[in-house]
This record gives sequence, C-alpha cells and structure tokens, in this order.
Amino acid sequence: MSIHLLPPEVASQIAAGEVVERPASVVKELLENALDAGARQITISIEGAGRRVVEVDDDGCGIPTDELAMSVARHATSKLFSADDLFSITTLGFRGEALASIGSVARMTITSRPAVQESGGRLRVEAGLSMPVELVGVPIGTSVRVEDLFYNVPARLKFLKAEVTERRQIDSLVTRYALAFPHVRFSLQQESRSALQTSGNGSRREVLASLYGVEIARKMVEVMAKDDSIAITGFISPPTLTRSTRREITFFINGRPVQDASLTAAVVQGYHSLLMVGRYPLAILFLELPPNAVDVNVHPTKAEVRFREPDRLFSAVQRAVRRVLMAYTPVPEITDQLRWSISPRQPDPAWQVNNEGDYPSSLTSGRIPSALNGIQTSAGTPSLPGSRTPLLRLIGQIALTYLVAEGPDGLYLIDQHAAHERVLYEKLMTQQAKAEHGSPGDKRENVIPSQSLLQPVAVEIPPANARLLNDQLPILAHLGFTVEPFGQATFLVRAVPALLAKLDPTAALRVLVEDFEEDETPLQTEIEARIIARICKRAAVKAGQVLSPEEQRALLTDLEACVSPRTCPHGRPTMIHLSVDLLERQFGRKGAR
Ligand code: ADP
Ligand code: MG
Repeated sequence: MSIHLLPPEVASQIAAGEVVERPASVVKELLENALDAGARQITISIEGAGRRVVEVDDDGCGIPTDELAMSVARHATSKLFSADDLFSITTLGFRGEALASIGSVARMTITSRPAVQESGGRLRVEAGLSMPVELVGVPIGTSVRVEDLFYNVPARLKFLKAEVTERRQIDSLVTRYALAFPHVRFSLQQESRSALQTSGNGSRREVLASLYGVEIARKMVEVMAKDDSIAITGFISPPTLTRSTRREITFFINGRPVQDASLTAAVVQGYHSLLMVGRYPLAILFLELPPNAVDVNVHPTKAEVRFREPDRLFSAVQRAVRRVLMAYTPVPEITDQLRWSISPRQPDPAWQVNNEGDYPSSLTSGRIPSALNGIQTSAGTPSLPGSRTPLLRLIGQIALTYLVAEGPDGLYLIDQHAAHERVLYEKLMTQQAKAEHGSPGDKRENVIPSQSLLQPVAVEIPPANARLLNDQLPILAHLGFTVEPFGQATFLVRAVPALLAKLDPTAALRVLVEDFEEDETPLQTEIEARIIARICKRAAVKAGQVLSPEEQRALLTDLEACVSPRTCPHGRPTMIHLSVDLLERQFGRKGAR
C-alpha cells in the first residue's frame, strides 16, 4: 500500500476513539460541558444503557446561535486561547474535542439558548456531518441529545460491556460528579426511572448516601485538611469498613475526577497497620491545588494528570488520612440491643419477649439468644476525644484470653493477643524509626537492639521461598535479626530482636516468607512494616495463655502507651467497651426501653 492521507471522516473516527470509548464517556463530556457552563441544574436521561440515547440538559450559559456550527468543529473551544493557558485551566474541558468526537460516532442534536437571545438554535450532526442550524423557541440553557452511539462504527459496538455494566458505570460517574459539585442539582434518569436525584443544597454526605447507601454514608469519616496551597476534603471509611480492591478510592483534583496510583497508595499508607492485609478503604477525596501545580493535559479523557510536586502531594494526602484516623478509631461499643429484646429488623418468633421483659420463651426450649448480636464491631459514633486508651484498672483475666479492666467510663474487655501484637508492633516500629534517623556513623546492622541466641538455630525453608528470604536478609539484619544462609535452603539464626527474645526463631523465619510472593513490589518501608507486623503476630501472647497479674498489668500499661491502641496491626479491634451508661440501661436503672 502506498502512503496516503486518511479521509477526514476516518481520521475523525480514530480521534474520537480516544475521547469516546463507551456511553459513560459521552455522559462525562456532556456533564463537564454543562458544569463549565455554570449550570445549577443538570438532567441526564439514558436509554438503552446509553447506546440508544444520552441526553444532558442544563440551565447554563448556553451557546450563541452563530457559534453553534463552530462548537462541533475539532479543536474548537471557548475555554483556552494559548498554550500558556494550559497551566491555569479552571474549566473541566479545554481540548475542544468532545462535541466533535461525539458527533462523528453518533447522531447528535444540540439545542441551546444564551440568556441574551430571544430564541435558541438547533444543530444536528450525523456521523460528523452538520446540517444547517435552525432557530427554535427554547428555555435558556443547553440540551445535547446523542442517539445511536457508534451506529457507524460497528467494531466499537462489539467492545461495549453488558448493559448492566454500562449503566453502573454511568451511575457511579454521575454520582461522583454530584459529590464534587454538591451545589448543583443533578437528576439522572435511567430508562425513565430516577437513578439519582440530588438537592443541590451543598451537602456532600447526602450525596454520599446515594452512592453507598445511608448506612455506609453515616459511617464515612470526614477529612478536612489544609496547608498553604493544598486543601484536602472528602470522606474516608473507618478501618472497619473495607473492600477487597482499591477501586473505591476516588480523587477529584480541582473538581476533575482523576485516577492516580500514587495518590491511591498514599491513602492506603494512611491506614497503615489499621487494615487487614488485602483489604482497602473507601475514599473520596477532593484536592484543591493551584491550577499551575497540575498538568491536566496528559490524557485525551483528562483522567490522568501530572503534578508539579508529586511527593509533597503524596505526603499531604497520607498525613490527612492518618490524622483523621488517629483521631477517630473508636472502641467498639456494645449497643442497647444487648437487652433481651428483639430488634424490629429480626422478627423471629423464637425471640418473642413479653412486655414485662421476661426471658424469651425460647430459653426454656434450649435456644439462647446470643449476646453477640448486640455487639457492633463496626465503628459507630466516634468516641472522641482522641484515640488513646484511658487509664485502666486491671480486674483480671477471663477465658485465658481476655483481660477485664475498669476505665473512667465503664468496663473494657481486652483481647490479650491482639493487644500484645499492637504493643510489640509499636515498640519495634519506634526502635526502627529511631534506627532510621540514627547518627550517620551508625552501622546499619543491629540498629535495633538484638539479642544473641545461646545456640544458633538452623531453620529449613521450602526451597521456593529460600530465595525470597535471601533477598530479605539485609532487611532482617536491619530489624535486629542475625540470619545467615547455611546450605541450599537452610538458614542459621544467631540473634533476634531483643524485644522478641521469647520468639521461636523457626516459626519467625517461616512466617516471613509465607505468601510474600504474591506481592507486587512493595516499598522498602512497607516491607519492613509488614515483616514487623507478621513477626509481632507470631511473638504475641496467644489466646489461652495464662498471664500472671504482673504480665496482665504490664500489657495494659504498654497498651496505654500505644499511639493506636484500639486495633491490632492487622486491623482487628483490641478492645470492647461497655460504658457505664450502657450498664445502667442493661440493669434497668435508667432510660429503659
Ligand atoms: P471543550 O469543552 O473542551 O471546550 P467541547 O467540544 O466539549 O470542547 O465543547 C466545545 C465548546 O462548545 C465549548 O468550549 C463551549 O463553548 C461550548 N459548549 C459545549 N457544551 C456547552 C454547554 N452545555 N453549555 C454552554 N456551552 C457549551
Ligand atoms: Mg467539553
């Protein structure tokens, strides 16, 4: 084939492919235009999961009739004049590509009237061909109707996902914009049913409820952080509310939804040691930066951006998340439902209680209502102020697993294993941090106090894992272990961190290499933290282990000294709190229902 220029309609279909990938991309571009136009009310109507119809109506500034024809030309925009403007962009659009792209892969009708005009104009575009503009009587604002998306690009149609998937995409897209612009009234109609309606009253939590449901929206913790040039607001989930993927971590940079792996990692790091391995928080964060600190022009759909100071942003996000979590993490509370009563949600006849509050009849037939039903391990209302443990007076140990203690505001049950894990973890992390910042002359090994074993212990590791362990030897040395290779898959342990002197070296080495391989390439600091968490789990006292009163008291004192005493490093709660108030209710002294 000889070299030739592509016919314009082919070239524009190719270009359109970058901007319009699926129905949700059409919705996104039209929404952004409406928002750029200063709309206070936006109505989105979807039919056929967006393939048959996407219509977006707004009450924004409108397009002058004599500019309508120009609006659908490629690279035609009212938002940018020179390349310099790219670094002071305050609008969502600026590439002048959306209307042209959509028009080349669908049938599009734009109807618009600016406030200064008596009537409006209407322009139809089919597969990139514009018809003459007509004059029409319409209200102020713009309506863009897109029909039969990709009708002239059948290859694209084949790549679309199932209708449910496309619909869900559109739902979550619109909801996220609604969150970013809580002062705009959004109305989303999917197949003529209302999928979302916001009031535009400015309340983000209200919009959040339509994204995640009322229950979750209530639990989400608000973030509000500001330093000289970065403002971070939004919501993050308490550590008890997690997902198995990072997908529910969303960012808006200056009102623009953006995917960014590094910022996502910053959020996850903010939860460091509060979440179980493989669990991720939900977060929706709005970052406001000076426009010149972001390059938004790196991607046709503008979904990726580049930052001038990525590291600074990273730590700002991480710090904001961390600070909120530290102030938040509540002790799980036993709720009122602990009474022998039925919550209205579970009308199980076996649970019926008569009005005098007698025991349920089922008790006599051997069914005992579980008191656990009343325990909310999820974070309810935060028990502010602060996350520290109050001073506790030890009462004793029960079931060889839990410590019972009195605090100023009631009874505390402490899981001895989880608590000890937390204590060891924080002690080691502190030693490690000190080692990191130690004087330059320090040797890197043995910076964490370590204790030599009387007899070195030879530990055999499955050959597949031996290499992994070999790679980690420098880290282990840094943490106070002295481990040497000793033949093919055997290692010699000569010393362990002094803090963990009671640890069984064989068990310790083995936990280190368990399921490490599935990891991508965790950061060095992350590896160390994870190694420490694992070893602490192994070294901590077990459930079922007798503790002397001195040991119990020491554990409580150590826990009081922790920065995050309320969860173990893997995110499980270390303690449950029964407030005096609750006890009084339980005993019918007060506010009995
Ligand atoms: P961009 O948004 O990048 O400028 P578009 O192709 O999306 O490019 O739109 C082209 C132009 O059409 C915009 O710059 C704007 O002037 C006008 N426009 C599009 N949609 C609307 C709308 N809903 N209200 C007012 N003007 C609009
Ligand atoms: Mg646009």
